[in-house]
Amino acid sequence: MCSGRVDLEFVLRAFSNGMDGVFIGGCRLNECNYITHGNYHALNMALLCRKIMEHIGLNPERLRIEFMSSAEGNRFAEVMGEFGNNVKELGPLGKGKGEGIDQNELKSKLAEMRKLVPYIKLVKNEKLASRLVNPEEYDKLFTKDEIDKLFSEVISYYIDPEKCQACMTCAKRCPAEAIISAKNQIHVIDQEKCIKCGTCFEVCPPKFRAVTKISGEPVPPPLPEEKRTIVRKSKEKKEN
Ligand code: SF4
Ligand code: SF4
Repeated sequence: MCSGRVDLEFVLRAFSNGMDGVFIGGCRLNECNYITHGNYHALNMALLCRKIMEHIGLNPERLRIEFMSSAEGNRFAEVMGEFGNNVKELGPLGKGKGEGIDQNELKSKLAEMRKLVPYIKLVKNEKLASRLVNPEEYDKLFTKDEIDKLFSEVISYYIDPEKCQACMTCAKRCPAEAIISAKNQIHVIDQEKCIKCGTCFEVCPPKFRAVTKISGEPVPPPLPEEKRTIVRKSKEKKEN
């Protein structure tokens, strides 16, 4: 398949499954048959992933991307041999040069990163669409400070129970089924399922503006189930 189809999630999943190295092979840059130039996307994704690896304490040399044509068998064999040797030298994942991470900690860090993939892709959307022509620019596309900031300022979404009118728009549009929704019930975001796409924030009608963005602060606890029923003013009047 096209190297452009290799998602950040695939690479992190491979490491989560214990792979010691990941190699991505793509067609030569600027020789793509399609206007999409998926191999540039693969390159940017790999550059981003290498910085994420550094952030969680993995040696980025465990991920390599190369571009070559199907007629370059010798070059492919050479590159694979070299990469295989490098990975062998690094040793098992998490225990190589400059690593030394506890296996359980590594697992939980990788799980955390995998959960954030949609968010990372959304926030770094523009840079992921770059077409770098000079390999000297590769290492500068994503910086260490930028990646540290990305993870220290992760955004969460929260539905303000005082403002939610249970119109259900957010729940219908949420791509992760992360919103606990029922008729006449204040809606609640399940933070474990939320992929931080921001759709609920965008679609909540302006007259309610019930969804808020939270960064660098804990998300308030969800409203207890027994307190979620909305009593409409008109209903209250009739009952009185
Ligand atoms: S940000 Fe909102 S719409 Fe997106 S996954 Fe989370 S709850 Fe669903
Ligand atoms: S779209 Fe806004 S008002 Fe409607 S259910 Fe969701 S949070 Fe509540």
